[in-house]
This record gives sequence, C-alpha cells and structure tokens, in this order.
Amino acid sequence: MKTTMASPAVYTIINPATGEAVQDVPLADINQTDAAIAKAAAAFPAWKKVAPAERASLLRKFAQAVDNDIENLAQLEVLNSGHTIGNARWEAGNVRDVLNYYSAAPERNFGRQIPVAGGINVTFHEPLGVVGVIVPWNFPMPIAGWGFAPALAAGNTVVLKPAELTPLTAIRLGELALEAGIPEGVFTVLPGKGSVVGDRFVTHPEIKKVVFTGSTQVGQGIMRGCADQLKRVTLELGGKSANIVFADADIKQAASRAPGGVFDNSGQDCCARSRILVQRSVLDEFMDHFTKAVASVSVGDPLDESTVMGPLVSAKQLETVSSFLEDEHGNRRNDIAFQGEAPSGGGFWFPPTVVVPSDRDDRILKEEIFGPIVAVVPFDTEEEAIEIANDSEYGLSGSIWTRDIGRALRVARGVEAGNLSVNSHSSVRYSTPFGGFKKSGIGRELGPDALEAFSEVKNVFIDTEK
Ligand code: NAP
Ligand code: MG
Repeated sequence: MKTTMASPAVYTIINPATGEAVQDVPLADINQTDAAIAKAAAAFPAWKKVAPAERASLLRKFAQAVDNDIENLAQLEVLNSGHTIGNARWEAGNVRDVLNYYSAAPERNFGRQIPVAGGINVTFHEPLGVVGVIVPWNFPMPIAGWGFAPALAAGNTVVLKPAELTPLTAIRLGELALEAGIPEGVFTVLPGKGSVVGDRFVTHPEIKKVVFTGSTQVGQGIMRGCADQLKRVTLELGGKSANIVFADADIKQAASRAPGGVFDNSGQDCCARSRILVQRSVLDEFMDHFTKAVASVSVGDPLDESTVMGPLVSAKQLETVSSFLEDEHGNRRNDIAFQGEAPSGGGFWFPPTVVVPSDRDDRILKEEIFGPIVAVVPFDTEEEAIEIANDSEYGLSGSIWTRDIGRALRVARGVEAGNLSVNSHSSVRYSTPFGGFKKSGIGRELGPDALEAFSEVKNVFIDTEK
C-alpha cells in the first residue's frame, strides 16, 4: 500500500517589482513552533547568567556581523519587499545601530538603592524568559531589531516570526546571530503564518511577552489572547498621522519635503503623514510647490540608485490601496488633485496620489491606507488644526511646520500622538522612545528605557539590624 506524505507548507516569495516568483520558504507548523519555543526556554537560564560584559560583547559581534552583511541584507530586502536599495541599506544599518546601542545596556541595567529603615533596599531588573516578536511586512529588518535587540540585552531569549510575505532578511539575521556566537536557542527566527506561529506565541505559556507590530485589528486580538495568561504585551499598530503646515512656515520647504513624509516606502509606513493640513491662506502656494514635488518623485526599479519610490508589497496591498480611489459606487473619485507616474506591467505599482476630499468623514481621512495616497485638508486656525489632527482613532506620529517656536510647542503638546517632529518628518530614532497614543498601540519601543519593557522589577530588602 502506498502512503502519501503531506508535503510541508511553503510560501512562495514574489518579487513586488516584477510579480515573479523568487523562492519558496518553508512555513513552520505548530509542532516546529513548540519545539523552537521549548529550545528558547531551555536556552534562557544560561543566557540570563551570561556576565553583562560578555552579553554586551556578543551583541557587538552580532552588530558587526550585520554590518559585514549589509549589502547582502539590502539586496534581499529589495528582492523580497520591493524597498528601494537606498532605503534597504539604511534599514540593515539600523539593525546594526540598534544592536550597538543596546549592547551598552547589559552593563548599565541599573537597579536602585532606596533608603528604608532597618536595612538596605535594592531593586533588580530580571529578564522575563522567552519573548515572542511578531513582525509585519512593511519594515522587516528595523521592526525585528527594535524587538530582539533590547529583549536580548535584558537577558531574554527570543523567538521571532517575520511576516509571511517578507521572511528573507529575518532568516538571514538569525544566521548572522549564530555566526556571531549568540548561543543556539537564544534568538530563533520562525517563518510561518500569523494564524499558526504568531497565534502560538500568544497561547504558549512559555512565551512570557509578545511584541507585536501590525494592524490594529490583529493587535487587539493578540491583547485579548494575552489577557488569558496576563502575558505582557507591547503593541505598535496603525496610524493616520497629520502633517500640519502653518502659513508662517517656509512653505516651499514644507511642500518639497511633504512627499518624503508620506510616500517613503511607498506609503507603507505606520508613521506616514497621510493627512496634510494646510492653513487656508497658503493653500494655493503650498499646492503649487507640492504638486511639483510629487511629480518629481521617481517611481521605478528599486535597484536603481536614483529611485525614490518602489512598488507596493503585494497584489493584495495594491488592491486595498486602489480601493481608496473609488467612490461608494465604484467610480473613480472626482477629487484627485494630482497623480505622479508609476511603471505599468509586472509588479505592484501605484503612483503617488494627492486627493482633496470635501467631506471630513471621508474614509480616506479616517482609515490607514498604507500606500502612496495623501489627503490635503485646509484649516483656518491653530485650534482647528489641532482638532482635525486629533479627529482620528490613531495617534502615532505627526509633523508641524512653523517658524513660531511657541506655536510649534503648543501644537506638539496638543496633538494626541506619540512621536512628533517640527520642521521635519523624523519619527524613529533608536535613541528616543517610539510608540502610539490611542489605537496606535500600547507601550514604547527604543530609547534609553526600552529594557524596562523586557524585564520585571524585583525589590529586595536586606535587614541590617542585629
Ligand atoms: P497584520 O495581519 O496585522 O500582520 C502583522 C503580523 O501579524 C504578521 O507577521 C502576521 O503574520 C501576524 N499575524 C496575523 N494574524 C495573526 C494572529 N491571529 N495572531 C498572531 N499573529 C498574527 O497586518 P497585514 O495583514 O500584513 O496588513 C494589513 C494592514 O495592517 C495594512 O494594510 C496596514 O494598514 C496595517 N499594518 C500596519 C503596520 C504597522 O507598522 N503599524 C504594519 C503592517 C500592517 P502573517 O504575515 O503570516 O499574516
Ligand atoms: Mg493580516
């Protein structure tokens, strides 16, 4: 009698720039996931005990291994995710930098000595155990690093699930960790489905914390699931950030930089400033400069060094993004102010697009698009600008363009978002905290305090009385 073996599940990677298959990646099933978690749990006690200077040294070696592999990692990301080569190199460099930054942490993971009567009171920061990191497809390398680097520095072991669409660089980072001398089981990359591997991170009792970045809907489900075990969770979710341009700003500068604030990574960025609020008195002047700036965004082959914007990540994402240019009857919207150029043919191409909606409740102003579409909204007063900016369930980032420092600070304090920039679109620096208000998430990543999210504070009192 013949028996047929079920072939292992695989995911076929598609090059977003061409639509062509690149390679198959095996997907971990539940048993493989459980085995990896068990291995990570077994590796924890020894990793926790590694001397601070030795753990620091291993993280620096890991950073060096990433640095030596930057070009390879970047090429993999272009192939897998369609990122421009310049962005992909920056992203690989960001993993190196984040590892280097947190390599200084083990030797500085201070507790406190707190004055009490009758003895000495000290606190310790104890690692949690196995941390599960769930990564989305939009920034496969940086978002992975923001989770695993501080988690490892704090003495945890890590299992990491890349997005099904974009596992290649994460797989490579797992290899580099081993090459750098990070012990087996301390950092394990598990390509697989969210509903299988990701969900197991939530339900498996040996995973002590889940770090999730992705959609608000899935994040809410993860938080619900983690509640069963009171499992620690950090959520970095969606955004609908506002770029607020006041009449007193350098309008030419604000307009020429606005495309970078929303179209970078083809708009597939939780911090994308997908709403531009412009003070009415300078609206025409702004639109003049802005239209020219959008027209000059070169969209094309992500391997070409001069390309500014590549394709969307998948056919599904192209379909989702395209739906935002249809009205409720399925017709093309009539308020599209301007569209740039994009290649046609194979690949998931979408041109940078500017819409001026007339209805403040238009879905284009409410929902995260995750594509290169921006909506422009005029406003009259500072108060109105803040009100419109806050008229969102999200609160991740935002920008304020003004030459008035008092106004810059008033508005920055008034906008309900975790990451604001004045006269710039910077959001994420590894040395500063990153995270969202409202439905953009819970908890903060990066910055000097990131290890707090990966440890428990233990208080110990020592009686010194005779
Ligand atoms: P998603 O479903 O939230 O996926 C994010 C990550 O969670 C992926 O690794 C995914 O794995 C995993 N996942 C999915 N379902 C899960 C579950 N039930 N339990 C545990 N893990 C699970 O996001 P998406 O479907 O890729 O994108 C949809 C939209 O989400 C985007 O259009 C965008 O608006 C938003 N988004 C936001 C961010 C952000 O940075 N805040 C990032 C990505 C997407 P699989 O890949 O295997 O499904
Ligand atoms: Mg999904």
